[in-house]
Amino acid sequence: MKRGAGIRKQLQILGVVPALFMLGLLLVALTWQRFEDADRDLQALGSFMASQLASSSEYGVLAGNYSDLRRQAQLAMQQADLQYVVFRDNDGKVLLYEGRQDRVPGTSIIEFHSGIYRQPLLDSDTMRVTAGQNDSPVRIGEVVLGMSSARLLARQKEILLASLIPALSAMILGLWIAHYLARQIASPLNYLSGLLRTLRGGDYHVRGTSKLQGELGELQSDINQLAGSLEEARVDQQSAIEELQAAHKQAQTASQAKSDFLAMMSHELRTPMNGVLGMLQLLEQTRQSEEQHEYTQVALESTGHLLDVINDILDFSRIEAGRMDLDPVFFELDPLLNNCLSTFRYLAEKKGLYLRLEKDALISDKLVRTDPTRLRQVLNNLISNAIKFTNEGGITVSATAHLVREDWLDVKLSVKDTGIGIPEDKQSRLFQAFSQVDSSTSRRFGGTGLGLAIARRLSEMLGGALTLSSSQGGGSTFTVSLRLFFRHEVGDEREIVLIGHDDAPRTLNGLVLLVEDNEVNLMVARRILEQMGVTVVTAMNGKEALAKVEQRDFDCILMDVQMPVMDGMEATRLLRQWEREQGRVPMPVIALTANAMEEERERCLSAGMNAHLAKPFRRQQLSRVLTPYLTPERAQSGR
Ligand code: ADP
Repeated sequence: MKRGAGIRKQLQILGVVPALFMLGLLLVALTWQRFEDADRDLQALGSFMASQLASSSEYGVLAGNYSDLRRQAQLAMQQADLQYVVFRDNDGKVLLYEGRQDRVPGTSIIEFHSGIYRQPLLDSDTMRVTAGQNDSPVRIGEVVLGMSSARLLARQKEILLASLIPALSAMILGLWIAHYLARQIASPLNYLSGLLRTLRGGDYHVRGTSKLQGELGELQSDINQLAGSLEEARVDQQSAIEELQAAHKQAQTASQAKSDFLAMMSHELRTPMNGVLGMLQLLEQTRQSEEQHEYTQVALESTGHLLDVINDILDFSRIEAGRMDLDPVFFELDPLLNNCLSTFRYLAEKKGLYLRLEKDALISDKLVRTDPTRLRQVLNNLISNAIKFTNEGGITVSATAHLVREDWLDVKLSVKDTGIGIPEDKQSRLFQAFSQVDSSTSRRFGGTGLGLAIARRLSEMLGGALTLSSSQGGGSTFTVSLRLFFRHEVGDEREIVLIGHDDAPRTLNGLVLLVEDNEVNLMVARRILEQMGVTVVTAMNGKEALAKVEQRDFDCILMDVQMPVMDGMEATRLLRQWEREQGRVPMPVIALTANAMEEERERCLSAGMNAHLAKPFRRQQLSRVLTPYLTPERAQSGR
């Protein structure tokens, strides 16, 4: 039979096995039957011979004629199975024993007993029992035949050979067929399952090569096809992964390029802007005619707008590039809200609008945890829009809160105005970048259409949402919903940001090293610092700065980052190293950088700088960042 020949055929053959077993059992039953028959024959023969001998020996026993008894016995002994004949009288006394010596070893003797009776005498004329005699036979002795079992055994052997051997053969044949077929089916199945195991292990090159027939052959070719398909799929998958990796790398490169471009743009725009803003701030301080003062104010305002636009574009690009990082800290909401409102109070009053704050008692005395800079940015944007698009009435900023759990607060910050409102069909679009209700509005009110897109993205980044409810002519309400973690008591002071103490001191004291390569910016910063009361020493690059630091101590170093010869980062690193070697107290270094990206701030701090101020900066910002080092009681000029 071929390996794995049709399973159906093999199973059909397997059906013969029970038939062979039945046949075997039948033959065993027949053998048993024939055994019993042989035994019965021997019994019948023995009983018959004993009774024959008993009736023919009546005379011999009665007459005590032993020669007659011997003759009878010898006659009986002609029967080969007969081993011995014994005649006994009624008292059990042996009258005669006739026996053979040649007993077949391993055989047993079966004895047959038969009584010897004296028959009543019959009158020959009347055929009646002779007078004076009892008419029933009287027992006068017994004949015992000893039959050998040799013949019975021989017969049984014969029967065994004739029946039991074929029976056993049939059963053994059945078992063998079952075993053989099981092996025939199991071994290809084992082979195929091994094949599948190899495939499951990820080796798709393997193929079944066994010469299998029928269904198993088909199964093997199916498995081979499956292996082929898996191999193809793996190749496809591999190439898809490679493509994805390449695309990912490309995207990363593109993202890096975008980031680099942003950094460059930021730098290129901010550097001249710093000059313009700085110069205008200086101009503002000079003696001017009313007309000149007005022009300066308009120029300052326009520069402020331009700066807002640049900031919006950069912020939006940063969010898009996934490079806007949050800096969550614990702070109080109250001062943040007050601060936002006070920033816009002047603008609102100029337009004749009210600007109110309504707040829940729940938000007071709590330190909430989120990024205050970004939250302030969102609120400022909404308030600025509200003022921009409202001509009558005013703006109400409200803060409501409710406890969600022991230490979580759901806060809703709404900016509601009584302005022109937004038609419903335009509302959803406004949160997309660069979209405005209509272009005439933008022409009338200015703006880039980025503010709301940024506000919504920032709200989402803070874990909340920004929603709008408005109708044309019916005013608008923008609501920021946030779930904020809070605590009551002031714990780790370092984490808490104090908001609302914006009033930077107008005068400062101390000696500052100003490191800046751009001459205009150098002049601007120097003048502003001098106006604050600070003594300024200048350097045009990092190398020059280090040389000056070695000559004397400074209360603070204002360090530009991008400079020729030696940049600010390198200079700060070398300065820190020098200070360590000399065992000196580190001098505060504040980065002045035209790169407003978050990474830049981190790079500055990790280079060993203490703070970071993005250009262009306003006078107050510079004053605020210098305050910790240059307030009269802290400054130690002339060290
Ligand atoms: P921008 O104000 O710079 O154009 P925004 O994204 O902040 O960009 O706003 C997009 C548009 O949404 C605005 O141009 C204006 O049409 C509309 N808008 C925003 N806030 C208000 C408001 N409070 N009332 C009416 N319209 C508004």
